[in-house]
Amino acid sequence: MSDMSKITIDHSKYIFLLPILIGLGIISGTVVTYLQIYDYQQQLSQSFKHEINGILEGIIDRKQSRLQTISNSVIGFFESSDNITPDEFALFSDRIFSSNPELANISIIEQNQTILYSFPQSDMIGENFDTLFPSHPTQINGMKTMNVEFPMNDFRRIIISVPFDYFISHDTIPSQYFKMILFSPLDNNVRLYEIFNNNGIIETNNVEFTQKELENIIEFNVKTHLFGHTIKKEYVLKYLIWDGALESNNTLSQLLLIIGIISSMVIPFLVYKTNNILRQKIRERSQILEQKNRELEQIKKSKDEFVTMIIHDLKNPIVPIMSFSDILLSNTLGDLTPKQMDRIKIIKSSAMSLQNLINDLLDSQKVELGKLYLNLSENNLSEIVQNTISKFKPEFDIKEITIETNIADNIQCVCDKTRIEQVISNMLLNSLDFVSEKMGKISISLKSDNRTAKITIKDNGIGIEKDQLDKLFVKFYQVTHNMTRKYGGTGLGLAVSHDIIILHGGRIWAESDGIRKGSTFFIELPLKDHDKANATKEK
Ligand code: ADP
Repeated sequence: MSDMSKITIDHSKYIFLLPILIGLGIISGTVVTYLQIYDYQQQLSQSFKHEINGILEGIIDRKQSRLQTISNSVIGFFESSDNITPDEFALFSDRIFSSNPELANISIIEQNQTILYSFPQSDMIGENFDTLFPSHPTQINGMKTMNVEFPMNDFRRIIISVPFDYFISHDTIPSQYFKMILFSPLDNNVRLYEIFNNNGIIETNNVEFTQKELENIIEFNVKTHLFGHTIKKEYVLKYLIWDGALESNNTLSQLLLIIGIISSMVIPFLVYKTNNILRQKIRERSQILEQKNRELEQIKKSKDEFVTMIIHDLKNPIVPIMSFSDILLSNTLGDLTPKQMDRIKIIKSSAMSLQNLINDLLDSQKVELGKLYLNLSENNLSEIVQNTISKFKPEFDIKEITIETNIADNIQCVCDKTRIEQVISNMLLNSLDFVSEKMGKISISLKSDNRTAKITIKDNGIGIEKDQLDKLFVKFYQVTHNMTRKYGGTGLGLAVSHDIIILHGGRIWAESDGIRKGSTFFIELPLKDHDKANATKEK
């Protein structure tokens, strides 16, 4: 009982860990989910990157070949005549501009950089191109432009100026979070052009990139076959794109985190609260149960004590019955007729049976109350066994039963002499009851090694079924035999014997090969008293 409650207290000590574990579980669950989504977005953006790359390469290819076509037609135009006038050039260029309105300017420059023709900026004619546009990027008529050049067959060059966003198609902006920058490869990554899709409205103003955006940026380079004007190198157009879906502050991720954090606090709190209420209820119930248990134990104890008292009082009237029977039988009070003698003998033997029964009942009550004590002393076990057998000699003789003994001499044992006699008597009486007259045989042996003594009582009586063997030592248990016994019995003898032997620190058990195969009872006793922990002086 007390052990049980200790265990419960230990459990409740750690119960508060449960909500903490649930909280940690939810937090880690949220973080894992968040990371999963983040990872998914990363993968999405990777595949997205390839897609954008393909689109941009396509656009640049088309734009490049268009510029190439324009330059080819200019070359063709100049080869058609030796002396092209500025007006003719303007007329020709105007036609090109009407089918390519995105162009900023077309110029023809000499080897020494002097501008020979220019449209629509005719005021540039005669100027030195490098002096006019000393660095890149440049502006023509207030418009940011890139100048791409194509060689002509006569060492002159065609310069076609295009706006910076010439190589960015607005169709490439796939989501509302999308931003894109085109950097100049020639001038230390100067931003040539920026574009931002703001809720479906495309803005081309200066777009600010946050640190986070710059970290999430996807970069790819596309080489063109066009040449910059200051250094004769191919343009390497560098695009940076950024998709806001990657950002941790997008609404879905934020909502997820908030729900996770709230539930990681609220759910453990609710669990803790419900748990507390349940524990309180259990505590109240177990208190009631404990109280009821105590009451029941008290009632049982009073009842047991009352029964013991009654049983004890029952013994008293037997004393005068027995002693007066003895007095009458001894003829001290006058001679009795044989018939009277017979009846008084019956009175005496019935009184003896009643006394045995009361003694067994008293002993088993004492065991129940934990009040069966041993009176230990050093004894000669060989003598105890021998004397007990001798006591029953008259009964053995009446039934004409063969007795075989094999008792080792002088075995010293610390034990309660009376109690051991009681156990052996009980066994002998049982055997006597269950063997048949004249045919019956009982063998009793006593052996010992240094540590234990072993008493064996074997009979050739009615035997016991194997599945009954363990139950014999249970209080009030009686095997149902067909054979009627000399006297009824109580089913207490072996139970009391068992408790006595256990108190001695010994063992008692029975063996039988079954019905009509006889029974053997074994008693094992430790020789020294160090094992007899429960033994105390009987009060
Ligand atoms: P009882 O007072 O009935 O003899 P015991 O506790 O001494 O009570 O024995 C319990 C039961 O065990 C008996 O009723 C009997 O059925 C069985 N028993 C005990 N000893 C023997 C034996 N030697 N042979 C067969 N059965 C036995």
